[in-house]
Amino acid sequence: MKKIAVLTSGGDAPGMNAAVRAVVRKAAYHGIEVVGVKYGYEGLTNGQFEELDLGSVGSLIQRGGTFLNSARFPEFKEDAVQQKALDNLQAAGIEGLVVIGGDGSYRGAMTLVAKGFPVVGIPGTIDNDVPGTEYTIGFDTALNTVVEAIDKIRDTATSHENSFVVEVMGRDAGDLALWAGLAAGAETVLIPEEAYDLDDIVERLERGAARGKKHSIIIVAEGVMPGHKIAELLEAKTGKKTRVSVLGHMQRGGSPTARDRVLASQFGAYAVELLMEGKAGRAVGVRNHQVIDYDMPEAFQKNHEADMSLYTLMKELSI
Ligand code: ATP
Repeated sequence: MKKIAVLTSGGDAPGMNAAVRAVVRKAAYHGIEVVGVKYGYEGLTNGQFEELDLGSVGSLIQRGGTFLNSARFPEFKEDAVQQKALDNLQAAGIEGLVVIGGDGSYRGAMTLVAKGFPVVGIPGTIDNDVPGTEYTIGFDTALNTVVEAIDKIRDTATSHENSFVVEVMGRDAGDLALWAGLAAGAETVLIPEEAYDLDDIVERLERGAARGKKHSIIIVAEGVMPGHKIAELLEAKTGKKTRVSVLGHMQRGGSPTARDRVLASQFGAYAVELLMEGKAGRAVGVRNHQVIDYDMPEAFQKNHEADMSLYTLMKELSI
């Protein structure tokens, strides 16, 4: 193998740059050239390629976002578009591709694998919702961002003796909300994986108030309902003003944490190894602290499962 390509696709996540850097450096270590594809599958189809040498990925490990840019490109579902992308890859002498993204990006990757082109996937999304891996690149950074924001909200909530609903990202997954709830000591967390009971939430809030609690933090994952909606429902039940903070896109930005940088470096290097071994249609992941690989379709054929032991623990600790 002499030349491979790398692209980032779907929602950007902190640590994607660190993963691209690892792909480039690991490949260079083995004498393999790397081409960076701009704008995900859109750039692949339009031939937006640039050579990446050792220097071009310098000073990138600490940068959030993705310097290769990302794109949503639904046209990639069309066979003729996929064929054009494949023609571009072959015309450039590229023999393998690393795709960094979520399960949608893996679906795109598998269309190329079905046409005989080797592709390996790296999970990059703050949502931590890629089945088959316990962690995705960007989750730890987003989690730390959310926890820092909630700590600040707590200061003002305590001062004014307010209840706060904090809406966090995660698409259809509750991981970000759940982990943040545990790490920030929230009173209640609402996640898509578990039905909520409004009366139970109110009872918890009242129990806290009765023992002198000055504030309460309710975290709601965006996949459950908008923050202002749950605040309205709570106000209707308690008669008390409930403030709302929607954290929004700041959760996707920022310099990746050390943990995300290490994970991205491991994933990037391992993806290159898989291509060198002639593997195709494999996704890298981490299970029990070990970097592993598995069949990419598993990531979109199975459903993501949140760690519900954390949910139970959160409830026990916020009694
Ligand atoms: P995130 O979890 O951050 O949203 P994602 O990779 O799941 O990341 P998507 O927008 O679902 O994000 O997918 C990224 C891109 O992958 C799409 O814009 C499209 O170009 C390609 N893609 C998604 N699904 C398919 C499919 N079924 N066939 C071909 N290409 C696809």
